[in-house]
Amino acid sequence: MAIPFERDFAAPYDTVVSVAPRIRRLLARNPSPFTFKGTGVTIVGHGNVAVIDPGPDDPHHLEALRSALRNETVTHILVTHTHRDHSPASRALKDWTGAKIYGFGPHGSGKAEEGIVIEEGGDMEFCPDVVVRDGDMIQAHDFSFECVHTPGHTSNHVCYALKEEKALFSGDHVMGWSTTVVAPPDGDMAQYMQSLEKLLERDDAVYWPTHGGPIRDPKFFVKAYLEHRHEREAQILSCLRDGISTIPEMVLRIYAGLDPALRPAAALSVFAHLLRLTKEGRVAARGEPRLSARFQLNQP
Ligand SMILES: [Zn+2]
Repeated sequence: MAIPFERDFAAPYDTVVSVAPRIRRLLARNPSPFTFKGTGVTIVGHGNVAVIDPGPDDPHHLEALRSALRNETVTHILVTHTHRDHSPASRALKDWTGAKIYGFGPHGSGKAEEGIVIEEGGDMEFCPDVVVRDGDMIQAHDFSFECVHTPGHTSNHVCYALKEEKALFSGDHVMGWSTTVVAPPDGDMAQYMQSLEKLLERDDAVYWPTHGGPIRDPKFFVKAYLEHRHEREAQILSCLRDGISTIPEMVLRIYAGLDPALRPAAALSVFAHLLRLTKEGRVAARGEPRLSARFQLNQP
């Protein structure tokens, strides 16, 4: 089953676009291989609004954000996770509006409890005013959100479900244009796949990822996403059976034809799968399980 990606998404930069009765979006001009066309900042409501994933700390974007919100009262700032294309503008937005910032916690907070040191690359300054946990409800002016903790892409990733539209703001957990980067140590493939399974138990009608367009058949999409991960694992196990034991060799075989600039990301993804397989006891690393390690199948 191929993932039904939708890459036709086109939206103007720096312009607020109405996409559903209560949902408007502002696309930041930060396109990249990881952000697609850029960060889609979401504005929920009219008059009294919540803003989800305010975006990067970039002067041009901050100006566009300020202008987009000039006739609104911002009451809530919701952050799905602490990557630099999502959370940093929350500070400026809070300064202008006095609204509180909601999020799971600082970068790596979902892993800090396990005593794992988190790498650079996240928004290390992020600190929410209101810490949210799975199942928490956030009551805004005339709409409400349910918080759905979805660790995996990062350990502090949260999706927000807008009850009034059965819409799930899925952040980077599920995206319509691409699979999600799961890069250890903060990214965790075992958690990620559990967080996908978790969405299958919900009845959201539509997902709005932070990058790209909406996903209108979410359960079908998530099933395809999961199947893709299981296929990837089967490819890794087949490499190991054939005596291919290092990650760079696996990347060359599994991702033949990939842009070499994207190979480090692919290597991290393979590593994430190997860690999950190691945790399950199906695979063992020779020595410490790290990117440069050799891996082998555990004999049943
Ligand atoms: Zn991210």
